[in-house]
Amino acid sequence: MTESAEQTGPDPAATFTELYGGEPHGVWAAPGRVNLIGEYTDFNDGFVMPLALPHTARAAVSPRTDGILRLHSADVPGGVVSLRVEELAPHSGHGWAAYPAGVVWALREAGHRVTGADIALTSTVPTGAGLSSSAALETVTALALNDLFDLGLTGPELAVIGRRAENDFVGVPCGIMDQMASACCTEGHALHLDTRDLTLRQVPFDLAAQGLTLLVVDTRVKHALGDGAYAERRAGCEEGARLLGIPTLRDLPYDGLDAALATLADAGADESVIRYVTHVVGDNRRVEQVIALLDAGDVRAAGPVLDEGHRSLRDDLRVSCAELDLAVAVAGEAGALGARMTGGGFGGSAIVLVEAAEADAVAEAVTKAFAGAGHAAPGIFAAIPSAGARRLS
Ligand code: ADP
Ligand code: MG
Repeated sequence: MTESAEQTGPDPAATFTELYGGEPHGVWAAPGRVNLIGEYTDFNDGFVMPLALPHTARAAVSPRTDGILRLHSADVPGGVVSLRVEELAPHSGHGWAAYPAGVVWALREAGHRVTGADIALTSTVPTGAGLSSSAALETVTALALNDLFDLGLTGPELAVIGRRAENDFVGVPCGIMDQMASACCTEGHALHLDTRDLTLRQVPFDLAAQGLTLLVVDTRVKHALGDGAYAERRAGCEEGARLLGIPTLRDLPYDGLDAALATLADAGADESVIRYVTHVVGDNRRVEQVIALLDAGDVRAAGPVLDEGHRSLRDDLRVSCAELDLAVAVAGEAGALGARMTGGGFGGSAIVLVEAAEADAVAEAVTKAFAGAGHAAPGIFAAIPSAGARRLS
């Protein structure tokens, strides 16, 4: 494997002292995530099943009472960004700083008294790899401010704040999965999340005890097509639900899919809408299948369900790309139990379920195939189901 799972990076408390003087009141961490199964389901009120990565955003933070918000990331050029909390307004730019600033804005919009802060951030979550570096940044900021201003918000409530920041302040139309995963995942578990009411269950997912490894293959590409395609898929799903006369695709029972597809065809739905409905209903069902297998201790049997999920993302939803398809195909040929693209697609990452003893050989095969196809070398590491957001000191 080309990367180690544990990456520590610079010490945010030391950066804080250098930049702002004095010691931070505390240091918090929030992870990135990979989604095991359930893709493009979260904006359809459906099911998802993410797990937290060992990779985290960390923040050293002190509160302020004078309305000033100072933000710094050790991972991007440009120094401290200084803002006034009363002047925070949606879609007002600020680059990367819009993610943590958006959290302050969303907390204040929700009526919480947040009067400023000094924040020094750093993250080991790869950015733009479909591993939710943005949600990690939002969640670590929300948790730190929750503690420092004694807001008493729960994990799901912090996730809602983070999502509001990303949707309404930054302007990215993401669902709730990423923030929920970062806020609520626990070590050794995958999170079964019902995105309709945010009920959740921690499903034991102890890969090591089963002799298994879940590889993440970061293709290191992000095709520009992605943003428009996401909005188009979302609109297509809403159109499907509208034509079926149901609030969301979640309301379609699995055994009603064939009848629903016939109804859509009769109603003159675009063929793309029919494919999107097929994917969303199928992936909701696949989440439930994987949960049943994990509960029964039969993790290996989840492999073919991951393969099926990939085929649906490739052929029905059409959000895969050459690099993701290659990673999945080569992993399968090299002996993986199952593999699929994860996240929004058009680049980003794939996951590969593999016998631990064969993980290195599968990783090598994928790396070799990427070189052979003229693609840049992928980043490959093991996804160890890790803890959600927490205070470190
Ligand atoms: P993903 O969440 O899949 O990694 P996004 O495009 O949603 O991809 O979010 C990536 C953006 O989040 C970056 O372009 C940057 O603005 C911000 N970001 C993530 N991590 C950091 C970091 N460590 N420092 C500064 N900005 C970051
Ligand atoms: Mg993101």
